[in-house]
Amino acid sequence: VKKAAGTFSKGADPVKQAAVLGAGIMGGGVAYQSASKGTPIIMKDIRSEALDLGLSEANKLFGKQVERGRLTNEKSMKALNSIVPALSYGEFEGVDLVVEAVVENVNVKKSVLAETENHIRDDAVLASNTSTISITELSKALKRPENFCGMHFFNPVHRMPLVEVIRGEKSSDEAVAKTVAYAQAMGKTPIVVNDCPGFLVNRVLFPYFAGFSLMMKEGADFQKIDKVMERFGWPMGPAYLIDVVGIDTAYHADQVMADGFPDRMTHDGKNAIDKLFEVERFGQKNEKGFYRYE
Ligand code: NAD
Repeated sequence: VKKAAGTFSKGADPVKQAAVLGAGIMGGGVAYQSASKGTPIIMKDIRSEALDLGLSEANKLFGKQVERGRLTNEKSMKALNSIVPALSYGEFEGVDLVVEAVVENVNVKKSVLAETENHIRDDAVLASNTSTISITELSKALKRPENFCGMHFFNPVHRMPLVEVIRGEKSSDEAVAKTVAYAQAMGKTPIVVNDCPGFLVNRVLFPYFAGFSLMMKEGADFQKIDKVMERFGWPMGPAYLIDVVGIDTAYHADQVMADGFPDRMTHDGKNAIDKLFEVERFGQKNEKGFYRYE
């Protein structure tokens, strides 16, 4: 972190139309946050069920704002309608910035980003919400790597203030500035960080998860660890947090972190996250992870 985010966004053109790829936990959250702060957004997924779920989550969040008297029904409807679900790139010509929020897999991300680049204007910015994967590595799939950077939100997007804007080796000042400006327009607190596996927050978080997994291996009870961490003052313990993140996402991110920092992350492929992933307990998203959610 070198200087205040405002310095980075100076002179950036505002994002008038955004798009997000993926309507899952994060994509749906980005769509809601963008729409609720007045920037219309196209939400694209490859599955119509994901789009339905993304929209219904946004609808619930707008409903809560109306209940609390923070938004009129009319305004909430208008904001909800500014999230346009899409299964194709039909209207991407008009988009100023695209947030990529598909699965945490380098090859899938590269192919989705390369495909997206064919459907957006030359001056549009592409930003990946990857948790851990190097922005410079992802940019190798692109014809215009200068227009690409990281835009890492935290879960749940509407509640977590921080956004890491990641500068890859080839990211231009303009791309970083536009991304910082968009994060600010979304009511977030952006910080600009350099590129490396896990960036800033996940370089702290994943070794913590690794420590937790080691304690489990030594026979500790995850529910007790969660309770202790809550008493320590954190809003939730590691097992519950991993369920919220999604065990599949945590699994993929864990691999990237273990490859990137073998000295900090003990990883024999048999930790608690690996085992839950193997038996498809993906956390809250499929109602079973460390805990059951029914
Ligand atoms: P998720 O599994 O909830 O959603 C991923 C969505 O991407 C799915 O709906 C899937 O259908 C869709 N998808 C897959 N391929 C696609 C394609 N080609 N085009 C469009 N959509 C496609 O996952 P998530 O938790 O939302 O994570 C998405 C990204 O955000 C990952 O890179 C993850 O590391 C990152 N992230 C996750 C968290 C978290 O706590 N879950 C936090 C920060 C960042």
